[in-house]
Amino acid sequence: MTNTGKCNQVLQTTRTERDEALAEIARLRSSQEMLEAISVSMEIGTLLELLGNKILATEGIDGFVINILDMAGENLICMNLRYPDEFRHLEATFRNYKYPLTTPSPHVTAFTEQRPVALDAETGTEEEREALARWKLRQSLALPISAADSSGALVRVGTVMVFCQNAALTAQTQESLQDLIRVFSVPLCNAQRHAHLLQQQAVFAAAATEQERFLRFVTEVNSLTLPDKIFELILTELMRRMPFDVASLFIANTDTDVLECRKTLANDARFAPQAEAMHTYCVDKPYRLDIQDGGPPHAFIKNIPLVFKDVQQLMHLQLPTKSRKALELLQSPHTLINMPIRFKGKPIGVLMLTSLVEPVTISEADFRFFELLSDFFGAAITNANTYARADEQHREIGRLNLILQDKIDELADQVATDKLTGLFNFRSFEQEILRRLNEYQRQSARLGLSIVMVDIDHFKNFNDNYGHAAGNTVLAGVAHEIAKLSRKMDMACRYGGEEFVVILPKCEAEGALIFAERVRVAVEQARFEIETAVLGVTVSVGAATFVEGDTQQSLFERADQALYRAKRAGRNQVCG
Ligand code: GH3
Ligand code: MG
Ligand code: MG
Repeated sequence: MTNTGKCNQVLQTTRTERDEALAEIARLRSSQEMLEAISVSMEIGTLLELLGNKILATEGIDGFVINILDMAGENLICMNLRYPDEFRHLEATFRNYKYPLTTPSPHVTAFTEQRPVALDAETGTEEEREALARWKLRQSLALPISAADSSGALVRVGTVMVFCQNAALTAQTQESLQDLIRVFSVPLCNAQRHAHLLQQQAVFAAAATEQERFLRFVTEVNSLTLPDKIFELILTELMRRMPFDVASLFIANTDTDVLECRKTLANDARFAPQAEAMHTYCVDKPYRLDIQDGGPPHAFIKNIPLVFKDVQQLMHLQLPTKSRKALELLQSPHTLINMPIRFKGKPIGVLMLTSLVEPVTISEADFRFFELLSDFFGAAITNANTYARADEQHREIGRLNLILQDKIDELADQVATDKLTGLFNFRSFEQEILRRLNEYQRQSARLGLSIVMVDIDHFKNFNDNYGHAAGNTVLAGVAHEIAKLSRKMDMACRYGGEEFVVILPKCEAEGALIFAERVRVAVEQARFEIETAVLGVTVSVGAATFVEGDTQQSLFERADQALYRAKRAGRNQVCG
């Protein structure tokens, strides 16, 4: 061999070694990248995506399915898959497919027995061969995914199944596939736990939200005082929680011995006509509190819930007329519950729930909850009724109070006024003059306070001549003239038999004399019709105005003296 030849050979060997080294570096780099990728991902979907891509990159593999154990530990769920090209249209169908651990399959065996399960078109049983033929496969191989947790215990995560169309996998490929799964198993195990925690958290969050919503509902019902509003809230809540389409609420009226249908609601507008028809019927023809009258009174009297799984199957039987009619109006009743509403254990009404589309099943827990809810409703309704009754009583008391007040006012008027003339009486005069005097003395800029006394002249004669009744007419007439001339703040009183006194606040002596004179003239000019004639009378008037040091008495006496002077001076005149 020439030197050149040797040289070339060495070069060749070196090149080969260098290429191998480069390939090894590339391989290491890619697995390094993969490890980095999986180690940072907590998200199970991303990991399964990565694992799937790696599996597909393996020589001789045409498809795969990766299953992960569900949170309940009951099923393997298909979370990522790739079918050979001609079956790819089925991928959507099989994504999230459930393999129950109780049903035998290669996945389940690989999972439960933690070993590879291979099906081979050449060596398998007839059944296996047929299955593989359907999927045009030469081989399928299921491998468990599992990892040891921190305490060393085995945690089973799921399975991988690969599909080979042309040839069985070599031992070496199987080995590297298992290596690949091993690399992914710990991150997948963690991600699965994380996903389960997230799911649990979501379940808790939903439960908490529901709890909170329900608490709000309870508070709302308790704070309501209008029974009708409560009924509506109750029925809406029931239909939100349970799969019924129409709900009715009956309340017992023990005076009339019937169950009154107080509210009916449909959970959907399309059922509203049936609900309405039944409601109207039950209002028109209420169930009597008699077991024979139908389901609601039966549930009420026996104080037990009545459940009919499917009313349709009873319709050919003999039913109480009212029940039959009510059910017919609902058109297609299926499952029906009559639940007593109780207060302190005693029924006060019945809730009737009906499904109209199909029979529905109520879990034991839901049914128990429904019973508890009915008790709560019983308390809420009773409270509202008590409140309504108290409110009614309150209103009645208010009404009686008003009547009483009117009576009191009337009596007070009677006490304060004089029946014959309608003027205030002496009692009122005494109170008012005191009040006005106090008021006057408190004022800094004092406006005068005057009184005017009026006495009919020779009234004794008048009575003697025309009779007492005629005298009364004149008394009333004179009072009327005085009242007409009084201002709003003045107070005209009948002081005695045919004597009047008028309190004139904010009126000086001059004003009082003017007023007195007006009264005198008015009476002089007035004519009073009595049975036999039209007559007139005159009055004498005395006026007095408050001066420093006056008392009620001294003021009154001065007015009286003025009146006396007017009489003495010939009557029909005014003196101040
Ligand atoms: P003088 O001009 O001095 O006031 O004479 P007089 O007759 O009016 O006075 P006197 O006090 O002597 O008589 C008052 C009369 O008024 C006596 C009574 O018959 C009459 N009188 C008192 N109260 C009533 C009443 O309510 N109805 C009637 N019809 N007369 C009454
Ligand atoms: Mg007199
Ligand atoms: Mg007189």
